[in-house]
Amino acid sequence: MNRIEMKNPIVEMDGDEMTRVIWQLIKDELLLPYIDLKTEYYDLGLPNRDATGDEVTREAANAIKKHRVGVKCATITPNAQRVEEYQLHEMWKSPNATIRAMLDGTVFRAPIVTDAIKPVVKNWKKPITIARHAYGDIYKATEYRVPGPGKAELLFTGENGEKFRGTIYDFECGGVLQGMYNKESSMESFARCCFEYALSTGQDLWFSAKDTISKTYDQSFKLLFQKIFDEEYKARFKEKGITYFYTLIDDAVARVIRSEGGFIWALKNYDGDVMSDMVSTAFGSLAMMTSVLVSPDGNYEYEAAHGTVTRHWYRYREGEKTSTNPIATIFAWTGALRKRGELDGTEALQQFADKLEKASLDTIEDGIMTKDLAALSEIPVAEIPDTVGFIRAIRSRLEACL
Ligand code: NAP
Ligand code: MG
Repeated sequence: MNRIEMKNPIVEMDGDEMTRVIWQLIKDELLLPYIDLKTEYYDLGLPNRDATGDEVTREAANAIKKHRVGVKCATITPNAQRVEEYQLHEMWKSPNATIRAMLDGTVFRAPIVTDAIKPVVKNWKKPITIARHAYGDIYKATEYRVPGPGKAELLFTGENGEKFRGTIYDFECGGVLQGMYNKESSMESFARCCFEYALSTGQDLWFSAKDTISKTYDQSFKLLFQKIFDEEYKARFKEKGITYFYTLIDDAVARVIRSEGGFIWALKNYDGDVMSDMVSTAFGSLAMMTSVLVSPDGNYEYEAAHGTVTRHWYRYREGEKTSTNPIATIFAWTGALRKRGELDGTEALQQFADKLEKASLDTIEDGIMTKDLAALSEIPVAEIPDTVGFIRAIRSRLEACL
């Protein structure tokens, strides 16, 4: 059989633990037999990050800027326990945070929808993608526990010495204070990432905030989105047949619940943090969530939303079989392959991605699923294979449709 040719490479970032095992299985069973896979490989596994002083993570981020498409395996974000477990030289930063900062990107999270698992919200038929502005606000705030009576003021001194001073509150007793900020450049990047992603996936874009109460802060987000939309995206949205609209967050929440899904919901940092957990839980399972990092100039990095599934890895290492779900990692690969195909005009690569996704979902809908899905399934479960068995079941369906 002729393998599918690729014109340009995908930046491949290997990772840790159970997902590293799954990574290799997916390549061996589902990709290499059918595609003449061109990747630029970076080993982001914790031992290699440690050995390279985390240089490998920065190299990978630069490679994404060059090749425009990357796919990443889940990686360990070290904490004190990991420093000991892996005898690390340093408590390295999260690779995702490093890559996100270097690409100035926004993360879009979307559930993989199958008939076997029904969302808690009955009328949701299509995925809802959450775009969270992962910069600033309360995550970078300065806080103060006010000990007793006194005056709290907001003071800004410009480079030219010009000052703004406003009273926050004249405390007659103790209390709390918080000073938070965001940057115009970051808000603009966020807006552009959202517009780009809406165009690239052909979905409507919603943005919501609380501008009625936060008349300067949230209002600035709203105005910047509108300005960038009007000046740079309006015509392209019209051509693509999609819409952008802003609505107050209270109204958005009500509309989201009543909707059928099938759109992107952009949110400020805290709103996105909370709503993404709500939406993903309501759709079913962390093992069925994909995640894509999009930069404002249109670079894409795909990955699963879950972590390295450590608990399964410890059992696997002892020689036990585990029924770990590879679906989100498979969809990270198909997302990257499809995007590579789109950018290079390689029809065959795009079709392969569609077929592999279909074969994966068909397997589940035939009642063959990993343990985590079996627990949620609305259809009769015929078989609960281990990870290898599940991937081979997908392979046989893939071969049938190739
Ligand atoms: P996790 O790896 O997502 O796993 C948490 C639990 O969720 C698992 O123990 C398992 O539950 C279930 N689960 C998640 N993915 C699954 C899958 N594909 N198939 C079946 N079950 C799945 O989160 P964690 O245990 O909190 O974190 C482990 C490591 O991952 C940490 O070192 C963390 O730093 C890293 N992490 C990386 C990323 C990333 O690279 N994007 C994201 C999050 C976490 P049961 O054990 O009950 O079966
Ligand atoms: Mg959260």
